[in-house]
Amino acid sequence: MPNASNVDPAELAKFSDLAHRWWDTESEFKPLHQINPLRLNWIDQRAALAGKRVLDVGCGGGILADSMARRGAAEVLGVDLATKSLRVAQLHALETGTPNIQYREIAVEALAAEQPASFDVVTCMEMLEHVPDPASVVQACAALVKPGGWVFFSTINRNARAWALAIGAAEYVLKMLPRGTHEFDRLIRPSELARWARQSSLVLEGSSGLEHNPFTGRYWLSDDTRVNYMLATRREQA
Ligand code: SAH
Repeated sequence: MPNASNVDPAELAKFSDLAHRWWDTESEFKPLHQINPLRLNWIDQRAALAGKRVLDVGCGGGILADSMARRGAAEVLGVDLATKSLRVAQLHALETGTPNIQYREIAVEALAAEQPASFDVVTCMEMLEHVPDPASVVQACAALVKPGGWVFFSTINRNARAWALAIGAAEYVLKMLPRGTHEFDRLIRPSELARWARQSSLVLEGSSGLEHNPFTGRYWLSDDTRVNYMLATRREQA
């Protein structure tokens, strides 16, 4: 059964508190700005965004959603449950004249009930590790995409190295992220995410690691999925 109250208010509050800084590329959101061109290209190379109807789940201030609209998607809908972040996203689109973009405050499970099988591409990046029932989000994403359409996920792996880099270094040593941004128990192994995808009729098409050198500040894609990673999946044809 899809979970209708799949939200952790403390998680939303963390993002709401920072909402005014979503588009400050030197803020806590700097890592998302830095990885955005990499993930945008990875998605676009597979799903060819131009002319597509796209949904971005857990869109926050719209870093990815905005860039997909600018890449030529026919329509991008960004959804989140943090009101302030959505306002910031909307304002940014207005100020910068982003075409074909809309934002809505609605749970992904509710949207899936409202308009099933209606998007060509669904993205859900850096969000699953913040919800109580991530499998329910995966299921809703699968329900929202058209048969044959693409669903992309990204999140953080759960192991000692991921703890050391994504939490230890980022939150405690380098202080790139506020303490408590990520909780170890909520991190998700690729095998777990792949299993939830499979259970929702999504076929795994590819994966990529997102690596970071904290000394040079550089990010790049690689086969190493031990810390941050993305999965590309496709819904089975009906
Ligand atoms: N996907 C964006 C933002 C990632 S930050 C990007 O990668 O650039 C995580 C986002 O998940 C925040 O905006 C937060 O408000 C959102 N979020 C957390 N729990 C959520 C839920 N249950 N439903 C929808 N969004 C949620």
